[in-house]
Amino acid sequence: MAATTSSAAGIRWDLADLSPGADAARREWDELLERARRFGVERRGTVGSGGAEGLQRLLAELDELHQRSARVHFYALAREHTNATDAEANDLATTARDRAAELENLLLFVELEWLALDDAEAEALLEAPELQPYEHKLRVAREEKPFVLGEPEEQALNARRPGIEAWESLHGRTLATLEIDFDGGEGAEPHTIDRLLSYVYSPDRDLRLRALEALYGGLAGIVDVPAACYDALVGDRLAVDRLRGVPEPMLPTNLRNELEGEVVESMLAAIEEQYPLGRRWFECKARALGLERLELADQYAPVGRDRRVPWQEAVEIVDGSLVRFEPRLAEIFRACLERGHVDAEPRTGKVGGAYCNSVSQGVLPYVLLNHTDTLRDVVTLAHEFGHATHGALALERQPFRSWRVGLAVAEVPSMFAQLLAVEGLIDREDDPGNRALLLADRVETALGSIFRQTVLARFEQRAYALRGEGKALTSERLSGLWLEENERYYGGSVALPEGYRLAWSYIPHFVGARFYTYAYAFAHLVALSLLARYREDPRTFTPAYLEFLGSGGSRSPQELLEPLGVDLREERTWADAFAELDRAVSAAERGVFVA
Ligand SMILES: [Zn+2]
Repeated sequence: MAATTSSAAGIRWDLADLSPGADAARREWDELLERARRFGVERRGTVGSGGAEGLQRLLAELDELHQRSARVHFYALAREHTNATDAEANDLATTARDRAAELENLLLFVELEWLALDDAEAEALLEAPELQPYEHKLRVAREEKPFVLGEPEEQALNARRPGIEAWESLHGRTLATLEIDFDGGEGAEPHTIDRLLSYVYSPDRDLRLRALEALYGGLAGIVDVPAACYDALVGDRLAVDRLRGVPEPMLPTNLRNELEGEVVESMLAAIEEQYPLGRRWFECKARALGLERLELADQYAPVGRDRRVPWQEAVEIVDGSLVRFEPRLAEIFRACLERGHVDAEPRTGKVGGAYCNSVSQGVLPYVLLNHTDTLRDVVTLAHEFGHATHGALALERQPFRSWRVGLAVAEVPSMFAQLLAVEGLIDREDDPGNRALLLADRVETALGSIFRQTVLARFEQRAYALRGEGKALTSERLSGLWLEENERYYGGSVALPEGYRLAWSYIPHFVGARFYTYAYAFAHLVALSLLARYREDPRTFTPAYLEFLGSGGSRSPQELLEPLGVDLREERTWADAFAELDRAVSAAERGVFVA
């Protein structure tokens, strides 16, 4: 990963929009905490009594404190993420974590006082025009009120945090330190789980099969540890749910996503009905690879041919895709590039993967990538700029408190931008091999986020139900549930190896946050449905889509998406999405044989 070999060499962040330097950042934290203390002295006890105008001023001040903290906090993280061995960056990041927690404690009274108001008082304030930009978020905060306990109880529950984190960290450490001897072509050497999993993208079938077998063999030796961690965490979450009066284990996740339980359930049911669409692809892929039936290890085997896409060309492709859709979005893309808000060069000491952080008003979003000149890197660039354009437009129009949305809606603009870019790429690639790769990748990404995430959500639901009945979540029981839910999806179209029963054990989401994964299925389906609406009538769609982006989190998902012709309560929304996916599968079925 030498910097000189990358076509994105030199494409690095300029963090001047966040802080002029380390000393200034330290001083900024001191000043911020001082201001937060003063804010507390002046404002404590006034959330309900200062009238609508007073509350509006208080919230604006609070937003300002949060934004300053967001900028200086991300300054430290951004340095750490791009240079892990920079000692100053590590110190700054530690300071930032401690100081941010201190700041949160000083400001927490605002949320507590808001929840403590009775409904009539709150309603009178919510009707005031001054508070309109904050109205939705203030309402949403109160929806959790029935499940919030008194201050001493909440403090006691908070005090359990280190115990909870110990289970999470035992789970993480057990898997991160697992080393499995494996010969990947350069002699036997210890492999991590991630390294073994990366072989499923190899063109060498024997390597793929052996890698998964080695992985499952390694997991067999430790599987009781992740099972015990998961059992403890689910047991704890259910016990706290009972204290809070939370009637259903998925409810806290649904509240955070602002989705009704019925909407989520009808979506999951609609997805399960379409499992055969996934099988149709697996059968096609088996033929394309010249196999009678796919083994699990063949699921992500490469199809078609990749080509080199240097950074400048990737930028031109995404720019073109945005310009064709709506020039305003391309302006934001170019501005981020020009101001040094994109870090695309892979290098030692930089974190892997990609993300976007829309830090605060008045600052363009920051995007991190690791561009390695593949066609998939272009797709990732488009995805992250779906997030960035959303953040930039929402922060132009909404107060800081009102711009953010739950994970489910947050992934909609990124998936939509990704789908548009992929469609453009498929239309423009001349080489049938390159087209085949993109067509297969489009389908496999969709199956991964729509079907596989649903399998995970159903597995979790059954685990919570079992634990709720007083049954311990042993590795035997979890493996049984895992296989049943997976077999419902793959249904014989893919041969599942014996060891696959243990594959639930290394999925971090189950441990970190419950029912996290359905948001990806939701976002992908909604983005497919939006694509159908766009194709029907681009002229009315585009302005409505800009309005959606600029609205940020100032309305509910239902209210945000309805003007775009996507009604979450209508089965048609999911049916339209599957019609799009069906089209994509058909195109891939044709494309992989032309190649
Ligand atoms: Zn994303």
